[in-house]
Amino acid sequence: MPGPASFSSRERQLRSRLHLLITNAEGFIHGSIIEMARKCGNPGCRCASDDDLRHRSQYLGQTRGGKKSMVYLPAHLEATARQGVEHFQRALDLLEELSVEARLRLEKQKLKARGGRGAAKKITAKKRAPRKTSKKKSPKRKVPGKS
Ligand SMILES: [Zn+2]
Repeated sequence: MPGPASFSSRERQLRSRLHLLITNAEGFIHGSIIEMARKCGNPGCRCASDDDLRHRSQYLGQTRGGKKSMVYLPAHLEATARQGVEHFQRALDLLEELSVEARLRLEKQKLKARGGRGAAKKITAKKRAPRKTSKKKSPKRKVPGKS
């Protein structure tokens, strides 16, 4: 396993942000907040005449194992649920970014393991090339370089 020394500064930053989030967030909820507007059926109610006055209520929607579910959120729990959903999304975003960093590291490690010095030589050769020519990749430099 790679030690903290091999983490890029970007990766270290992401890890500490995730750590902070996990430490401070009250909860993580994988789902979404859904608002439903319905008519109660009472013909004398305001909702019967005006669609804008339908009764609105919040639900927490989730999908687990391909099954969708909705659970009613009483008003006093709306904010908590909304936060949980946001925290989950933020953690997921951080994990996605960490995944990118880990993959980059994996590729670096692969290069190292492949040839040891050979891989290092290739990199120096690439770095040296732009000095001779411009930024363009000219096919010329490949011919005299490798023989
Ligand atoms: Zn009504």
